[in-house]
Amino acid sequence: MALLEVLKFPDPRLRKVSQPVDKITDELVQFSNDMLETMYDFKGIGLAAPQVGRLDRLLVIDTRQKGDDDRYKLDDMTELEQKVEQPLIVFNPEITFKEGKTTYDEGCLSIPSYYETVERFELIELEGLNQKGEKIKFKTDGLLSICIQHEIDHLDGKLFIDRLSVIKSGRIKKQIKKHGYPERKTEQESESEQ
Ligand code: ZN
Repeated sequence: MALLEVLKFPDPRLRKVSQPVDKITDELVQFSNDMLETMYDFKGIGLAAPQVGRLDRLLVIDTRQKGDDDRYKLDDMTELEQKVEQPLIVFNPEITFKEGKTTYDEGCLSIPSYYETVERFELIELEGLNQKGEKIKFKTDGLLSICIQHEIDHLDGKLFIDRLSVIKSGRIKKQIKKHGYPERKTEQESESEQ
């Protein structure tokens, strides 16, 4: 296992479109495990391959939140979310159905410490391949649905700030240019970033 470097906006590599994976090799499985470890290390809930500099259509997600007793608080999740086994590692993810609207204050490991309300589809159906190359397909809503849409945007070279008004995204870009990013936060301060 190895921790990977997470690229930050405005790194031009975050703007590239990732390519589908032909074959899930042992090396790619290892890489996806490293992505998951990196995501946990940053206290993130999702990470896409281009965020660590690799243009493969691959995402890792774990939206489960732990309570004070260190156990997962499954009650906070919707029924559909609870049915999906996490952590989730998906190669060539594709949204095959989408419905409804929802909003959430999104953050991103590539734009650390900035949060804005983004509109997403509420319910989606996802298809893709797991680490064994087996087809997976499920419907979900809640935070998991939002996180999947956020990560697939990364595979298309899109960031959550692109989904804000011109004024709001302009303000964030200006702040980043002026102040950069803070040093890595302590555990208590960190919120969910994707
Ligand atoms: Zn992100």
